[in-house]
Amino acid sequence: MLKQRKQDFPSDLNKKLNIAYINLCTETEGPYKRMAIWFQGCNILCKGCCNPELQEIKIAHLMTIQDVVDIALMTKKENCIEGVTFLGGEPTMQEGLGCLARALSTVGLGTILFTGKQYDSLSQDIKNSMDLIVDGRYEDELIDNERNLVGSKNQRIIYITDRYKGCEDWFLSVREKKVEINFSSSLFLNGDVV
Ligand code: SF4
Repeated sequence: MLKQRKQDFPSDLNKKLNIAYINLCTETEGPYKRMAIWFQGCNILCKGCCNPELQEIKIAHLMTIQDVVDIALMTKKENCIEGVTFLGGEPTMQEGLGCLARALSTVGLGTILFTGKQYDSLSQDIKNSMDLIVDGRYEDELIDNERNLVGSKNQRIIYITDRYKGCEDWFLSVREKKVEINFSSSLFLNGDVV
């Protein structure tokens, strides 16, 4: 049954996360304005992966959950983000992912997870801490040009809570090619880079 999430603020905020990069405010990685976090490392290794540089299992930037929550609060205030999207790499390789999602939830932010794993194989901790999960590995032969954000037709959009139920049209609308360019200390491109 779909539900609203009510959680206590998690206590273990010193756990480290291995982060490749963060976009503080994007409109290409889910509905509304969002912060997007790309984690380093993936052991699924799909053929045709759109982020092969994030597959290598190596240290990128180690940040505590508290660091990431502080950044999210700052961009919530400055950019009015609605939530945070987790991408990779394979986000579920991060031991602190569920804890991070719960901490973001307690400060009012929605959470969307992209995982190459099947929903049924995810831990209960992960399932219970997200608002929406897009599951399944990327299959090059099943490329999906219809749905927003979803790479291949086998991948499912799973609404865990009702937070994004009103956004079904956003995910099911025909995909628009979109590229965002952010200028900060370095050039950051995301979206459909062709
Ligand atoms: S799960 Fe994602 S990051 Fe990992 S290989 Fe597949 S598409 Fe690439």
